[in-house]
Amino acid sequence: MYHIQHECASLPVFAGRHAIRRVYEWASDQKAVGGSPDPMREDMDKVLVTGGAGYIGSHACKALKAAGFIPVTFDSLVTGWRDAVKFGPFEEGDLQDRARLDEVFEKHQPIAVMHFAALSQVGESMVEPGLYWRHNVGGSLTLIEAAVAADCKKFIFSSTCATYGDQDNVVLDESSPQYPINAYGASKRAIEDILRDFEAAHDLKHVIFRYFNVAGADPEGEVGEFHQPETHLIPLMLDAIAGKRAALTVFGDDYDTPDGTCIRDYVHVCDLVDAHVLGLKWLQANKGSRVFNLGTGSGFSVREVLDHSRAVTNHVVPHEIGARRPGDCTKLVSGSSRAMEELGWKPKRSTLDKMISDAWRWHQNGHYSN
Ligand code: UDP
Repeated sequence: MYHIQHECASLPVFAGRHAIRRVYEWASDQKAVGGSPDPMREDMDKVLVTGGAGYIGSHACKALKAAGFIPVTFDSLVTGWRDAVKFGPFEEGDLQDRARLDEVFEKHQPIAVMHFAALSQVGESMVEPGLYWRHNVGGSLTLIEAAVAADCKKFIFSSTCATYGDQDNVVLDESSPQYPINAYGASKRAIEDILRDFEAAHDLKHVIFRYFNVAGADPEGEVGEFHQPETHLIPLMLDAIAGKRAALTVFGDDYDTPDGTCIRDYVHVCDLVDAHVLGLKWLQANKGSRVFNLGTGSGFSVREVLDHSRAVTNHVVPHEIGARRPGDCTKLVSGSSRAMEELGWKPKRSTLDKMISDAWRWHQNGHYSN
């Protein structure tokens, strides 16, 4: 394809047997990225974003677009939202559908994959482990095989601190042993192993990010967190404040922590996705494969999160103390210096107050209906 220069824009000229279809695809891509015809479009690399209609994936798409990439969302919409796909083309599909994946790789020729799509509820994974092994591991394996077959060998994977398990009040760094205590964490650890095997056999270069607790929302309000059902602490708390649900149940206050409630390391979703763009650039610079924790190194208990929420929103969070939730670790706090030192990552927005206030703004004004 080449371009004809007009006064206001440069329009592509398509030739050959599939010219009409390609014009149509180009035009619909333009519409999807919300832009007018752009002379640089031809040079913009595409990144396949699985789960791009979900919470973290949609924020990643926004960050990728801002960094000059075209994010192509691949999502089944089982838990994602079509309304959240705002920054690039959308391809509906299931990760276990190899033929559909092949078609999407062929159509878009992405230079890399960012793989967010997954089931991610710790409690559910304890009750329905088969779902997690089939969907997370089976789906990821199909995706990885399709990527390798399409010669797309840069892969960014969203893993989790749940792969470390319960390790008695230590700060977890990337070399800490991985002993997951729930099926969610075990499924993510298995995918990490698959990536290592595929690097050895097929040179699949990858960056694995082990997330701690992701929170907050896009400060501009274009995308945010909207799970159904919701199981995460901060959105549940905000729902309880807004009267959208009954009091929050604190899952146990008899843990071995200063106030008896579990401790987590919270990271702002916008900081988290910034790290993914840096990870992509790391892969483009051929620096090899690497694992990075994404957290701040500061832990907050459930009670401390409740206190901050009251201060930020000016509302007391209605809550009661309940039983422990099966699968919960006592304390998960990240040693994150590797991402800061090697990727140059700076978590600028990851204070508890900023995360809660951005989430609160989204919570009051933003939602998806479709
Ligand atoms: N939590 C809680 N009540 C809830 C949801 C979560 O007390 O309704 C606690 C949970 O036990 C954990 C922390 O909040 O200690 C964070 O849980 P979340 O589900 O948000 O993330 P996870 O750490 O499981 O990934």
